[in-house]
Amino acid sequence: MNKFAPLFICLLILCSFTKTSPAAEKNDFLFQYSTINALLQGLYDGEMSFAALETHGDIGLGTFNGLDGEMIALDGTFYQIKTDGIAYIVQPDAQTPFAVVTFFDNDSENVLPHGLDYAGLKNHILSLITNRNHFQAIRIEGLFAKVTTRSVPAQTPPYKPLAKVVEQQSVFHFDHTEGTLVGFYTPDYVSGLNVPGFHFHFLTKDRRGGGHVLDLDTAKGTIRIDEIKEFMMDLPDSKDFAETDLSGAKKHQLNKVEHSH
Ligand code: ZN
Repeated sequence: MNKFAPLFICLLILCSFTKTSPAAEKNDFLFQYSTINALLQGLYDGEMSFAALETHGDIGLGTFNGLDGEMIALDGTFYQIKTDGIAYIVQPDAQTPFAVVTFFDNDSENVLPHGLDYAGLKNHILSLITNRNHFQAIRIEGLFAKVTTRSVPAQTPPYKPLAKVVEQQSVFHFDHTEGTLVGFYTPDYVSGLNVPGFHFHFLTKDRRGGGHVLDLDTAKGTIRIDEIKEFMMDLPDSKDFAETDLSGAKKHQLNKVEHSH
């Protein structure tokens, strides 16, 4: 046997471990708890704790039991942006009625163009996505000329539908602010389960404020995308969940909830 053969075999093994295709990475799945239709219908109490949720991802978005604000997860830390506009660290025993998370793998990195509005940014990201039938986690770090966000006030039962609650939302304006957008692109075929297209939450660089993104203008930064083809969903056990009609796409309600300001 050639004296270099063992070295060659070692290199081969090393290469087979380091060369991973984007969708083949370990734990590269999208995890979500409950469905967007359940949230639209006013199912604001889930049974999933943040201690459990963080085992499924280190980046993501969602809300809290009682609809008490907007959730954003970044680098494994979960934040709660309440209607005072302040980002609080989430306690592990807090629970969520709807959340979407993943362990972020950086599959592609691109420059964030200057001067895009929200629609322009979404179109630009679409041009970067190679497979629109896969899920995409998106992380955009940078300076924003403007970001408009909102948070929703905590509710008490009997719960009103989400479209009614957003009429009382608090809106925040960030000018010339550094921060991170965390969001997902979800294919249209999952309508009813998740938000088709784009859904972003924002966290300022000092991690003190943010919210659900309603509008923005870009300045400079980096767009990172994690392409995901595995999808995992966990559903509530509650009587309310069992008895609610969750059929249909409910696009009109969703449009009102996601974009109104
Ligand atoms: Zn949101």
